[in-house]
Amino acid sequence: MLDYTAPEQLLKNRVILITGAGDGIGRAAALDCARLGATVILLGRTIEKLEAVYDDIERAGHGQPAIYPLDLSTATDENYIELAQVLEGEFGSLDGLVHNASILGQRTPISNYESRTWQLVMQVNVTAPFMMTQALLPLLETSNDASIIFTSSSVGAQGKAYWGAYSVSKFATEGMAQVLSEETENTSKIRVNIINPGATRTNMRAQAYPGEDPGLNLAPEDIMPTYQYLLGPDSTGVTGQRFNAQEMSK
Ligand code: NAP
Repeated sequence: MLDYTAPEQLLKNRVILITGAGDGIGRAAALDCARLGATVILLGRTIEKLEAVYDDIERAGHGQPAIYPLDLSTATDENYIELAQVLEGEFGSLDGLVHNASILGQRTPISNYESRTWQLVMQVNVTAPFMMTQALLPLLETSNDASIIFTSSSVGAQGKAYWGAYSVSKFATEGMAQVLSEETENTSKIRVNIINPGATRTNMRAQAYPGEDPGLNLAPEDIMPTYQYLLGPDSTGVTGQRFNAQEMSK
């Protein structure tokens, strides 16, 4: 959805949590949401990276963000309950939740895949977003216009050799988004949608395609229109949909 143009201050008065906000697409989304007026909660595992994004937002003169360090590979139910309590205490409500953090795992045939790596990928990419969503639903319910975004991949809709747990985790992510969007459709104002970013110039892309010229791919900043659309009021009532961030709207 490259052709959406966000009005200035589209996200004014919205509190938006972004996972994996220290790098890549999450970093770009955090800066962009802050530029559009949101209060952004930067969640991730590497504090220095989160601090650098925090400083960039402050330097640009946008609203003060918050940093929430959390390692999704080890976080427990108690950690997510505490997250919900802290957010409620600090902000009172939550209007946007962007499940962006993921890991790639191994690129190897299933016959060779290490089960420990498999479990780690499923933990970070699927179980952590499930636990976080469950803990934050009551807070999202307090918003008049809450939006949850799950991040998939082209290999989350069509399996591909050697993509192992990553591909399977993205199928699971899409399933989770579909289940949750049906459950909330008639009972809640929360909307739940999926973004497939498409090939984007980040560390993960370089890890997956080491021989590729990074200049061939769009930068994270270029794919922000879909995030803007889904986090702002123009998508109110849109739920259970899958968006390719690098396509035009239909
Ligand atoms: P990236 O540059 O590798 O960034 C991933 C982010 O997730 C980083 O900030 C990373 O933190 C964080 N993260 C990883 N493990 C974590 C953990 N255990 N706890 C907390 N945070 C953790 O990846 P990206 O390319 O921006 O990808 C963002 C999303 O888009 C992912 O869901 C990915 O699957 C999806 N996607 C990307 C592409 C692409 O071409 N780039 C294509 C399709 C889908 P650290 O920096 O501290 O490690």
